[in-house]
Amino acid sequence: KVRVRFAPSPTGGLHLGGVRTALFNYLFAKHHQGDFILRIEDTDQTRFVPGAEEYIKECLQWCGLNPDESPWNEGAFGPYRQSERKPSYRQYAEDLVKKGYAYYAFDTSAELEEQRKLQPNFRYAHDNRMQLRNSLSLGAEETAKLLESGAPHTIRIKMPEDEVISFEDMIRGRVSFETKLVDDKVLLKADGMPTYHLAVVVDDKAMQISHVFRGEEWLPSAPVHLLLWEYLGWKDDMPEWAHLPLILKPDGNGKLSKRDGDRLGFPVYAMNWADPKTGDLTTGFRERGFLPEAFVNMLGVLGWNDGTEQELFSMDELISKFSVERISKAGAKFDFEKAKWFNQEWIKRTENADLMPQVKAILSKNNVDLGIFSDTFIASILDLVKERLTYIEDFWEQASFFFQKPAQYDVDAVKPKWNADKTAFFQAVSNEFAGQSTWDASTLEPLFKGKIAESGMKIGELMMPFRIMLVGGKFGPDVFKIAELLGKEEVLERIALALP
Ligand code: GLU
Repeated sequence: KVRVRFAPSPTGGLHLGGVRTALFNYLFAKHHQGDFILRIEDTDQTRFVPGAEEYIKECLQWCGLNPDESPWNEGAFGPYRQSERKPSYRQYAEDLVKKGYAYYAFDTSAELEEQRKLQPNFRYAHDNRMQLRNSLSLGAEETAKLLESGAPHTIRIKMPEDEVISFEDMIRGRVSFETKLVDDKVLLKADGMPTYHLAVVVDDKAMQISHVFRGEEWLPSAPVHLLLWEYLGWKDDMPEWAHLPLILKPDGNGKLSKRDGDRLGFPVYAMNWADPKTGDLTTGFRERGFLPEAFVNMLGVLGWNDGTEQELFSMDELISKFSVERISKAGAKFDFEKAKWFNQEWIKRTENADLMPQVKAILSKNNVDLGIFSDTFIASILDLVKERLTYIEDFWEQASFFFQKPAQYDVDAVKPKWNADKTAFFQAVSNEFAGQSTWDASTLEPLFKGKIAESGMKIGELMMPFRIMLVGGKFGPDVFKIAELLGKEEVLERIALALP
C-alpha cells in the first residue's frame, strides 16, 4: 500500500515550497488510493516555535490536504510527534554502535566550538575522528569508564572512508555520492533526542512509508539515510525517494526566499504568520485574498504538468492526472502575476453561493445594511463583476455603486463638453424611463439608443455620461445591466442628482 508522509518541523509559518511538498505527497497518495500521513519533526527543541504546529494544521485544512493520520487524528502508527517517540530511538543508535557503524563521541560543545575556531572548515569526519574524543580514539576500556560515570555523549554515524553510494531517485534517476565528502553526522544527541537523520529513518520504517517526496535541499542528506537503512538491516523496506525541484525566484536566479517576497511585494507563506518572538507579521496567500483552489492549482503546476497545455486543475483533476514522470528536474520559477491569474480564473469558476460569505463580509465592512439587499440581488451583481476580480476584495471597488450612490463623480470626463442639449436629453430620457413598466436591460437599451438617434448627437457623447451618473466613473459592466439592477427609482434619482 502507498503510504507517504509530510514531515514538517514546527519552526515557523509554511512557505509555499513546504505546501507544495505536502501537495505532491498528497496527490501521489490519493492517485494510488494510499495514505497521506502528517508527522511533526520536532526533535530539535532549540528551533521549536510555539504556534507553528497549529499553523501547519490550519494550513493543510485550508488547502484541503487532510491527513489520514496525524497527531490530531492518530492511526495505528502513533505517536505522530517525534518528541513523543523519544524513547524509541536510542536502541537503534546503540545497535549501530554495537555493529560498528556508529560510535560514542564525548567531545563537549565547548571543545567542538574551539575546533571550529581553529579551523573554519572543521567537520567531524573519517580524516580527523581519531584525533577527537570518541569511542574509536579512546578505546573500549576508557569508553566504558566514561559511559559508566555518566559522561555526556552523542552517538555519531561512522561514514565509510571512501565509498560511492547511489540510489535511484524517482525524479532524477541515478544519484551518487562519495562518502569521503560526508561528515560523521550526529544520530543521537547528548539529551537523548535523536537528530533528524536518525528519527526520519526510524520513523519512516516504523510508519511503513513507501515513498518519500521532499525538497531538493534534502538530497545531500540522502547518503546518510541510505546507509542508515542499510546498517539497521532494513534495506528491503526502504521507501522510494523523489527529491522535488526547487522553487526559484521570479528571475530564475536562485531559490525563492521569504526576503524575495518582502522585496517584490508578494506573499511567500501560505497564511499570515506572526513571529511569536518579534511580533513581525508576514502576510500569507490566504489573507492576501487567494482562494485555496487557486493556491493549490498554482502549486500543483510548479514543477509538474500533465503533458498538455492545460493549466487549470481542480484538486480532483490533479489527483487523477498526477504522475511522477511529469515532475520536472529543473527548478520552477515562481511568477506572482501568474498566481494572480489563477486566482482570477478560480473566482470565475466558483459558485456564487460559495463566494457569498466573503462578499457579505466585505459589504458589512463597508457599512452596507445587509437587511436591504437580497442574496439574489448580490448574486446577480457577482455574475456581472466576477470576471473583473483578481481578489474577492476587489468586489467593493468594482461594485460599491450597486449598494450606495457614487461617493464622487468623474466630473472631468463630462463637464468640458456638457451643454444644454445634453441636459435636455437626459430630462427627456428620465421622463421616458419613468413611464416604463418593464424594467430590464433589453428594454432600456433600445429605448435609450432610440432617443440618441432622435437627438442627432453621437452615441459615445451620451453613453459615457449616463455611466458616470450611475457609477461615478468610466468603469463597470454593461450600463443597461447596471440600470436594470439598480431599479427604476434609483436610476431616476441618480440622473436627477447628477444633472446641473
Ligand atoms: N523535517 C524535515 C523538514 O522539515 C523533513 C525532511 C524529509 O522529508 O525528510 O522538511
